[in-house]
Amino acid sequence: MKLALIGFGQAGGKVVDQFLAYDSEIGGGFVEDAIAVNTATADLHGLENVPEDRRVLVGQARVNGHGVGADNELGAAVTETDIDEIQHAIDQVPTHELDAFLVVAGLGGGTGSGGAPVLAKHLRTIYTQPVYGLGLLPAMDEGGIYTLNAARSFQTFVREVDNLLVFDNDVWRSTGESVGDGYDRINREIVERFGLLFASGEVSHGDVVAESVVDSSEIINTLSSGGVSTIGYASESVGTNSDGLLSSFTGSNDEFDEGSATNRMTSLVRKATLGRLTLPCDVGSADRGLVVATGPADHLNRKGVERGRQWLEEETGSMEIRGGDYPRADDSDVGAVVLLSGVTDVPRVKRLQQVAVEAKETTATVHANAEDEFATLVDTGGELDALF
Ligand code: GDP
Repeated sequence: MKLALIGFGQAGGKVVDQFLAYDSEIGGGFVEDAIAVNTATADLHGLENVPEDRRVLVGQARVNGHGVGADNELGAAVTETDIDEIQHAIDQVPTHELDAFLVVAGLGGGTGSGGAPVLAKHLRTIYTQPVYGLGLLPAMDEGGIYTLNAARSFQTFVREVDNLLVFDNDVWRSTGESVGDGYDRINREIVERFGLLFASGEVSHGDVVAESVVDSSEIINTLSSGGVSTIGYASESVGTNSDGLLSSFTGSNDEFDEGSATNRMTSLVRKATLGRLTLPCDVGSADRGLVVATGPADHLNRKGVERGRQWLEEETGSMEIRGGDYPRADDSDVGAVVLLSGVTDVPRVKRLQQVAVEAKETTATVHANAEDEFATLVDTGGELDALF
């Protein structure tokens, strides 16, 4: 499907930058245009792939290009004020070509956390296409302010978008990794999963011989449940020989083993669903689902997707599980992307909210104590007078 990507804040901008790289790497064609919005000049300069004329600095009058320092109320306020600046950049986008908007932001910070929901609300009042969010949850050890920001932003963002796709940094960290290396790896995981999903709706039926290619309307219908979505992905190498030919196809196509391709796809769908999701949840709580089989067309068969789809129907108890192929001629992997939409049993979100409430209460107590303690500090019992 054709998307306008809008990266808000540092994390949002970096992920959109990576989406652009991934889209050209796989020849996906799902990025129609990409914009980065920030209150910090330095973060915009750090981007590599978002074109210069698609980088928008907001809040100059308030923060002069220095960022909002994890103050998401300020992030929201400056976005409201400077919404025309962002609209000006969107005016350059051929919006009639778009299937949807995707607003990407880290929910724990200030600019993206506050600004992304404001922008989503604005876009929905102006355009008829769906507006999706991609929200990144902070790792639990990032601390109280990030958790509180994320919980408040999540609550607002999910209300303002047609569907909020979520990626939980906490689940995807590795121990012993530097923060920078960690984010590079994590961002790759993000764009691979969401990128494959969005690119899957972009195959024109004339390109390849495919049994049942996924259409962008199937992605849109799956996401039209609203609420919160998560993605699972699993893949397996089918290998290539020195000529670049798929090793299992060096003979005639008759050697293609229908049965094992079907079994492989069914097991990949299970692995994708029951393995690490971008946001862990109880799969049974999903309202809708979509199974996408990716890989060389010769390795994809209708039966495999159908079996995987049926299994997911049983697992979720939902009658709205769609399925299809995303044939990729040059790929040496066969994979399954599983989109679960409208999930409601998400312990991680409940935990985030609980920690946020505690952080809010602790902050209020600390502020009240600090005021008392400061009054005690400067109080001389009337012995001294201030200068003026
Ligand atoms: P902002 O610029 O004020 O919007 O804040 P940031 O985007 O820098 O940070 C917000 C949150 O995003 C942080 O708390 C992290 O959880 C997360 N984050 C920051 N950078 C990255 C990144 O490159 N990738 C991912 N996945 N998350 C990030």
